[in-house]
Amino acid sequence: MKHDDCLFCKIIAGEIPSAKVYEDENVYAFLDISQVTTGHTLVIPKVHTVDIYEMDENVASKIFTTVPKIARAMKTAFKPAGLNILNNNEVAAGQSVFHFHLHLIPRYNKEDGFNAKWITRNDEISQEELQDMANNIAKEIE
Ligand code: 5GP
Ligand code: ZN
Repeated sequence: MKHDDCLFCKIIAGEIPSAKVYEDENVYAFLDISQVTTGHTLVIPKVHTVDIYEMDENVASKIFTTVPKIARAMKTAFKPAGLNILNNNEVAAGQSVFHFHLHLIPRYNKEDGFNAKWITRNDEISQEELQDMANNIAKEIE
């Protein structure tokens, strides 16, 4: 269902112009206006879905099915050295448009505009602690 106040629903409907990369019945992919790196692409479901938490499994399968072929096309087109796939959920994680989107960010070098900072904890986590955390999640999976 199209949401009237949603930027990406308007893009899908063609009410706001976008540089389309791919489209099928369920999925739309287009260049991110910010072009963090050359070829930076957003892959979105056509059905308005706010974030990963409310995503229908069927919608998820439709989106993720398209990603390898779009990624391969980007690799052929721009010859990047690598590719990061990123998805921000909720404001705290940096989500600014509340229609689910996967960022496909081609990587060229360390100063290419994208930097995912990954700080490894120094304190040792025991296998028991890890299993405890895993159990906390596992018991909630429906
Ligand atoms: P988020 O911060 O929610 O993960 O990503 C939203 C992305 O949407 C940003 O990278 C931003 O550049 C992109 N964006 C925002 N407005 C537009 C627009 O009007 N057109 C396009 N193509 N991208 C947009
Ligand atoms: Zn929407």
